[in-house]
Amino acid sequence: MTAKSARISSAPEPGRARVFVGLGANLGDARATLAAALDELRALAGAGAWRASSAWRSAPVDAGGPDFRNAVAGFDTALAPHALLDALQAIELRFGRERPYRNAPRTLDLDLLLYGVQGDDGGLAQADERLELPHPRAHLRAFVLEPLAELWPDGTIPGRGRVAALLAGVRAAGGQRIERLSD
Ligand code: AMP
Repeated sequence: MTAKSARISSAPEPGRARVFVGLGANLGDARATLAAALDELRALAGAGAWRASSAWRSAPVDAGGPDFRNAVAGFDTALAPHALLDALQAIELRFGRERPYRNAPRTLDLDLLLYGVQGDDGGLAQADERLELPHPRAHLRAFVLEPLAELWPDGTIPGRGRVAALLAGVRAAGGQRIERLSD
């Protein structure tokens, strides 16, 4: 697939919001977990637009255990932000995620990166005790920015800047080992 065809395009239908969700797994069969989680997200999207990035392998950041397998999905949903977070957490639980301590290794981590994306604009900026948008660490992490840039290369994360510029900065800083996988 070329970079251009990977992009998510066309506006969501009325009543739907475009979102990006980050996926990460580093315990058990991470490849199978990520594939199954993408299937679940695709089911959430229903008939709406859907794109998934390549799979990436990244070194743990602020976390223990083996390398992570990461991806980003972009899709349109009829769910409101908190209802979508509920749905993502339900999927995490189905995959047996346990949280014995902060940043413990996890079977599956789903992060709501952006909600209400319109074209190159990254949508909602809001924070409450359950949900912060944009995701507060998305702009810092190569394992978010690399796959996000595949789907949304011209996008801007509200309050943070352009994805391409953020990615260039993270790459230049070094220290976050990441590679794109071919399967
Ligand atoms: P973590 O264990 O790092 O995945 O963090 C999960 C916690 O972060 C949950 O309690 C969520 O309510 C909260 N949270 C806040 N904003 C977000 C977001 N944008 N996406 C996912 N979880 C979020």
